[in-house]
Amino acid sequence: MTSSRWRPIYVGIGSNLEQPAVQVSRAMQALAQLAEVVGWMFSRCYTSPPMGPQDQPAFVNAVAGGLTQATAETLLNALQRIEQAAGRTRDGQRWGPRILDLDLLALGQTRQQDAMITVPHPGIGERRFVLAPWSEIAPEFEIPGLGTVARCLISAPGQADVIETAAA
Ligand code: ATP
Ligand code: CA
Ligand code: CA
Repeated sequence: MTSSRWRPIYVGIGSNLEQPAVQVSRAMQALAQLAEVVGWMFSRCYTSPPMGPQDQPAFVNAVAGGLTQATAETLLNALQRIEQAAGRTRDGQRWGPRILDLDLLALGQTRQQDAMITVPHPGIGERRFVLAPWSEIAPEFEIPGLGTVARCLISAPGQADVIETAAA
């Protein structure tokens, strides 16, 4: 499904299993092939300690941005297909280890919350591992209800725990 407006889409990419930097790089290639989105930009990769359970490897994170006319539902379905193709399984542990996590961070100024989808993605205002790469590609983007990406990064907690890392 499409709406008639072009909107920016931002996607958070994360992995902490099976060569995470390689997984993130492959995810970028898969995103670049989506028919629904044009004009992708990709941040560099960052390493950060795990959120939630601490007995798991560090994460590699990046953010991708593009332009789309598709709906949040269509886009989330596409992201979940890419996760599954990468071998993502869901074992029910919240914030547990995963081969690939793709979160729909924001879709223009859309605000949507229903059983399937919440946009903007909850928690992004406090997640430096999202805000640091996001601010590379879209520092002035206004996150609905939160302010610009750059402003959120300045006020986010945990100053030193997100480190730029080598790409795969
Ligand atoms: P978090 O969402 O806190 O980052 P997570 O990424 O580990 O945690 P998942 O298990 O990947 O959580 O996803 C939980 C559910 O969130 C999925 O069923 C997915 O459909 C739903 N969901 C709702 N809104 C979004 C969104 N904006 N982006 C990605 N998934 C979303
Ligand atoms: Ca996530
Ligand atoms: Ca997710």
